[in-house]
Amino acid sequence: MDRYICFALILLLISSCRGVTTKETSVMDSKSKPLVTFVFDDGNETDYTVARDIFKSHAEVACAAITTNWLDTKNYLSASQLGELQKDGWEILSHTESHPNLRALSGSQVETELSRSKSTLEDLGLTVKNLVYPYNKTNRMVKEIAGKYYRSAREGGSMLNLYILDRYELKSYSIKHNLSKMESYIDNAYSEKKWLIFYHHQIDAKLKISDKKGNFISGENLFFQPSGATGRYTESGIVFIGPAIYFTPLGGIPQTNDTITGRTSGATCRLDRVIYNEKEDINDMIEYIHKNYPDMRIVTIDKGLDLLGIQ
Ligand SMILES: [Zn+2]
Repeated sequence: MDRYICFALILLLISSCRGVTTKETSVMDSKSKPLVTFVFDDGNETDYTVARDIFKSHAEVACAAITTNWLDTKNYLSASQLGELQKDGWEILSHTESHPNLRALSGSQVETELSRSKSTLEDLGLTVKNLVYPYNKTNRMVKEIAGKYYRSAREGGSMLNLYILDRYELKSYSIKHNLSKMESYIDNAYSEKKWLIFYHHQIDAKLKISDKKGNFISGENLFFQPSGATGRYTESGIVFIGPAIYFTPLGGIPQTNDTITGRTSGATCRLDRVIYNEKEDINDMIEYIHKNYPDMRIVTIDKGLDLLGIQ
């Protein structure tokens, strides 16, 4: 008799397990959505001078994670630029007050970093709900304090986010100079119905050059002829096959054999090869999403949490 009871119990257990599995799967299917988010860390000026136009031209928005001590300093956003980004629909995230490794701080120091950066931004009339950890570093104590002030917080991890997630450990991928790799992350997020968060910092471009005459001046405007592209010179460098320059890509697309002229210095050089152009890469990533996955939404962090039903 005992044997029959035991058999019946096992049958009951198996059928109830199946029931749970099916239910969970259907909940997951309804909640899981393929989403993409672009976050620009640190509050570099290129969020406004470069990224803003890229996203605007595709009727999309991104997020700016602000270290408040750097606001209104050289090469960083001004408070008014930040206000315009938010007006455009960008989400403003906190990225602490002084960009420390939060793991190395005491509880009260973490409190100060997380609360003051939020209140400084709110005093500027901005809405701030979510956090990005500097250096993507966190721990249990930091996460607990983040929970007092923010709806979520992002770290690195090079992983996609499923709907069941720890919202104080949102995972993200750094944008690298490898477009096909970035597109493969987008493919995976779409097919697995997961949330893909990309992060980046300052947007720049690097060119291999030759025939340089004169010296470019940091911050001066550059003109590219005949392509008509424009940019702002940042510095010179060396690549394994010769000299290179770094610059902020502004208008147009620089082409091989363009002559580059510095507006202030009058220095010139020839463009031999585009080593990378992050403006074009980000633009191409958005185009890739729109072309291949029209139903994959590009969202802010806050919108992503809303769509996944995370309170
Ligand atoms: Zn940072």
